[in-house]
Amino acid sequence: MSKSSAHFRPSPAHDSAAARQLQQGYPWLRFSDATLEQDFRENHHRHSRRLVSLYLGIFALLVLALVAVDQWVLHRADNVLLKAIQYSAFFTLMVSVAIAVTENRFTRYYPLVVQCLATSLSMFVVGYELIDRPSGIPTIVLTIFSLYLFVGMRFVIALCLGVSVMVAYLAGMKLMQLPAPELIYDTCVLLLANVVGATAAYMLENLQRTAFLEARLLTEMANRDGLTGIHNRRAFDERLHLLWEQAIREQQSIALLLIDIDHFKAFNDCFGHQAGDHCLKKVAETIATATRRPLDMSARYGGEEFAVLLYDVNRKHVEQVTANIQAALKQLGLSNPVSIPEPHLTVSIGVACVVPHKSRTSYGVVQLADEALYAAKEAGRNQVVIRDVEYADLTTGAFRNANNLIRRLG
Ligand code: GH3
Ligand code: MG
Ligand code: MG
Repeated sequence: MSKSSAHFRPSPAHDSAAARQLQQGYPWLRFSDATLEQDFRENHHRHSRRLVSLYLGIFALLVLALVAVDQWVLHRADNVLLKAIQYSAFFTLMVSVAIAVTENRFTRYYPLVVQCLATSLSMFVVGYELIDRPSGIPTIVLTIFSLYLFVGMRFVIALCLGVSVMVAYLAGMKLMQLPAPELIYDTCVLLLANVVGATAAYMLENLQRTAFLEARLLTEMANRDGLTGIHNRRAFDERLHLLWEQAIREQQSIALLLIDIDHFKAFNDCFGHQAGDHCLKKVAETIATATRRPLDMSARYGGEEFAVLLYDVNRKHVEQVTANIQAALKQLGLSNPVSIPEPHLTVSIGVACVVPHKSRTSYGVVQLADEALYAAKEAGRNQVVIRDVEYADLTTGAFRNANNLIRRLG
């Protein structure tokens, strides 16, 4: 893929494996990032499975039509038993492919199954045409085109198979000592079929890869904050909902940290908005670095507020995380002249540490963290307030409303 032909360009600020790959291109039809390549292949197989079953259905009907033409138009059904064996072998293979592509149990083995069956079917067609020669070269050309375009194989594998079919057929012709002019003619036709099929397959996979990267990039950008590059509010809301449900199922605790920069308006007024933006980026980076466990998430909640979700935590771990964040921010050395008594940029942190339950909603945990944040501000800023043990008896905000509603409903 050349750089100039990429349809969609990410903003220079957006950095991810998909963005980098789209910039670099992929002329060898392979992504340099192993995870990205793996995801593409899985996605590609998932999509091609449906198409392959459709083509198989059409193919089966065509074969039936050919049997009818053989029998009633060309009157070639002199050896009925031989024909019966040939066609039943052919149909058995096709049914196997159909099962392989539609049965979910075989998803893992799908690429391998398709490759093996496509090879067997192609070689069966080659053998059949060499021995019986009912239609000769057109069938081989169709087989080669099918390998490139209708079986859902990646370009490299289709290329190997397409060339193998050509070589097998030509070798068979040579063995059977067919006339030289016929051999030369067939060689040219099959070479051309491979060139046309390979070009179309290359372009198709290239487009599929571009579409895959663009779709991934759009999803990433829809979930990222444009300024800081960490998750945005949309992604946070989605993750909170998912983690909440997971925590109910697994009876695990969740901690929500709401982090608000102290006196940020004064910082902007003093140093200007561009310095303010730079500061927001640095704070976001620091918070993201402090929360790196697989299910942890940091997001820009809005303005100069950040949210952190921690899964399966206790108070000690939360205290450790908040202390790390505050220490890392101090180390950044960003000064805020209004901050008293500390002259550097500080944050206030409100934490809600809860064990989710079916009778409560995730909105309640946000409200609880929000109340803790206000308490931290009221306590003089640069403070951490954690609400956890007392939460068992506490009914605030959404919890209070939800409980009232439940009571009213009886
Ligand atoms: P407090 O300690 O009570 O939180 O005071 P504060 O000044 O931080 O809070 P306030 O809500 O009064 O001001 C928030 C400021 O954050 C005002 C706004 O200009 C600034 N801000 C919000 N988003 C951005 C942004 O994207 N870039 C910049 N530079 N500033 C932002
Ligand atoms: Mg604020
Ligand atoms: Mg603030």
